[in-house]
Amino acid sequence: MKKFDPSTQIHDYLVFGEFGDVNPSITDSSTFTFLNPKTMEESFQHDIEGCFLYSRHWNPINKFLSNALARLEDTESAQVTASGMGAISTVILQLCGAGDEIVSERTIYGGTYALFKNFLPKLGIKVNFVDMQNLKQVEEAITGKTKVIYAESISNPLLEITDIPALSEITKKHNVKLVVDNTFSPMIISPKRLGADIVIHSMTKFINGTSDCVAGCICSTEEFINSLTDVNSGATMLLGPVLDSLRAASILKNLHTLHIRMEKHGANALYLAQEFEMLGLKVYYPGLKSNKHYNLINELMNEGFGYGGMLALDVGTYENAAKLMVRMQEERVGYLAVSLGYFKTLFSAPGHSTSSEIPGEDQKSMGLSDGLIRFSVGLDNDISIALERIKKCLRELNIINNEYKTKLRSYQNA
Ligand code: PLP
Repeated sequence: MKKFDPSTQIHDYLVFGEFGDVNPSITDSSTFTFLNPKTMEESFQHDIEGCFLYSRHWNPINKFLSNALARLEDTESAQVTASGMGAISTVILQLCGAGDEIVSERTIYGGTYALFKNFLPKLGIKVNFVDMQNLKQVEEAITGKTKVIYAESISNPLLEITDIPALSEITKKHNVKLVVDNTFSPMIISPKRLGADIVIHSMTKFINGTSDCVAGCICSTEEFINSLTDVNSGATMLLGPVLDSLRAASILKNLHTLHIRMEKHGANALYLAQEFEMLGLKVYYPGLKSNKHYNLINELMNEGFGYGGMLALDVGTYENAAKLMVRMQEERVGYLAVSLGYFKTLFSAPGHSTSSEIPGEDQKSMGLSDGLIRFSVGLDNDISIALERIKKCLRELNIINNEYKTKLRSYQNA
């Protein structure tokens, strides 16, 4: 495959403001005037170049941000939404109706899992959860009613890499859509180039990167995005989770530094993962040579943006995890908070937070340990300072000591 550099694609997209401003003007309006009623009538039937009707449909700044995101994901088109869940729910409702089925990865973000498990059945949509690493299981779960295969490019929270090209082959064979949530790996992985039909992001995370708002996006073909905004049948138009224009403007500005942030998040996460591994701790990070997904991520990734800012550390028990997180926050390693992609390191115990929607039994079967801590590693200029602080906490709590290897392994084998 040809080398792809999403950051150059975004930087080459230049939009100016009304007075030649280097940033596009913010269109702070819900509605737009027309010079004659005929054009207004026509705009209800199809998009008219340069013409805007109503902000739940489109507005200029949302269009500019969407165009830049289409360039990020190398898709024909994109649409921005008011949250990641707004993007996920509208895509699913556009593609599926009562009686249809979805085959979904079982280790997904807890909110998506809850939507699939608890909410969609109320609408007559059934979801079969599978282990996406097991392609045979994926194919066996597809029935004549299946419309969508749903996966995360790097799964949450165990950081497993999805074999998108292999899944794409399966979806093409069965004529179903492959929807990939790429929230954990913008720039690093380009799912559409690997065969996905629709790419989703929670822009709340890395894309925006300042933890000041929730937002999402959908990147796909012109045809699919137009279907979402259709005034008679489009899920985003009719359900209405559209991004506010002021937020679209600020996210567009943050998008321009995403490549630098991803590289730094990734370099810091790799450093911590290697150091944790050398301490004998159980760490999940796809950039570690010992990680079972190392070869696959190297095959799939774009060069130059690292292996991602997320890592997971298993400290054996929830008691250990809880104490460690409190101490790390006191030592200013970062914040005990959900979410990701902030300048400061964020950490939480997924089994008791972002994945708590997944029942305990299911957590166990997918390998999600009670002692797992998920880190979104920050942009620290000198990450070795954070490492020393974490080591101090680990020693204090007796999670590492002279016999730490035996101690931790005994928890993990229990
Ligand atoms: N997808 C992933 C992988 C997530 O981690 C999240 C939120 O944590 C979402 C989707 C939902 O996005 P939002 O919170 O912006 O609605």
